[in-house]
Amino acid sequence: MKTLTCDVCKRTIDNAITGRTYWHIGARDICEPCKDQLELTIKPIIRTKEPFNYEWYSRLMTDSIEKAIQKGRFDRR
Ligand SMILES: [Zn+2]
Repeated sequence: MKTLTCDVCKRTIDNAITGRTYWHIGARDICEPCKDQLELTIKPIIRTKEPFNYEWYSRLMTDSIEKAIQKGRFDRR
């Protein structure tokens, strides 16, 4: 069993299971509530992106996480 700390909210994630209780995105580990917030934050941006591009998408995710780490939370636009 491993214990991780969410890079955004600094909460401890007990029994960390990747893809279930935490997500490893870029160089960061984020917990489930933060992953939900991340998705809510980027969903409206993704909808307007045409054509969709995976490289752009992963950059958007890592940029959003870095911004959220600086603020300590995700900002919904
Ligand atoms: Zn978190």
